[in-house]
Amino acid sequence: MGKRLVITVDGPAGAGKSTVSKIIAMKLSYIYLDTGALYRAFACKMANERISADDEKQLSDLCAGIDISLKSVDGDIRIFVGDEDVTEKIRTQEIGMLASKVSAVPIVRKALLSIQRETGGDRGVVAEGRDMGTVVFPDADFKFFLVASVAERSRRRFTELVERGESADFEEVKRDLILRDRQDSERKTAPLKPSEDSIIIDSTDMSVIDVVEDMMMIIQGPGIE
Ligand code: C5P
Repeated sequence: MGKRLVITVDGPAGAGKSTVSKIIAMKLSYIYLDTGALYRAFACKMANERISADDEKQLSDLCAGIDISLKSVDGDIRIFVGDEDVTEKIRTQEIGMLASKVSAVPIVRKALLSIQRETGGDRGVVAEGRDMGTVVFPDADFKFFLVASVAERSRRRFTELVERGESADFEEVKRDLILRDRQDSERKTAPLKPSEDSIIIDSTDMSVIDVVEDMMMIIQGPGIE
């Protein structure tokens, strides 16, 4: 049996991380780990319980009792908070912004770290997020950092929301995306940045298929099953 790889895909919002990570995980029969979904699920729980991102005491209590899990249901990866399936609920602009705000809080990052490492483990994983290559899986076999222009990323995010049936305003989507990137890049703990050994791919003018092909070409060296 060949070596099961750890592949990380980091980058700003709307760079295409989820789409390509899912395809690559499927091609390799690996686990797809969407760590943004964990932060979003945490934010969802906060919103339900009306906890503010500035209330360290309540956040700490929430972290102590948090029960977030990723489960495979009929071949689909679903995210749960306790017994509640929040997969669709977490995909709103508001939850994205709250996730970005609370993800700067070190105790929250710490609480979600073990879930990420346990899910990834040594089983062969494509892990997607902001700090996969820098913090969560620093010894990953391949580290990718996807970027794209703000205009293109906003367009993708906007299309995604509209296709999901959400009412969205393009300028608002763009504003939120810029703000979220700034928050994610400027925070002290695990900021969004490429690790020194990551491969940067600018997907602005590339199709999904082209990005996946480029990545697969890099990954499919010797030693893979
Ligand atoms: O990737 P997604 O847009 O779903 O992530 C939502 C938010 O969760 C991001 O804006 C970021 O603040 C946070 N996040 C993070 N670290 C990760 C993944 C997501 O801080 N590894």
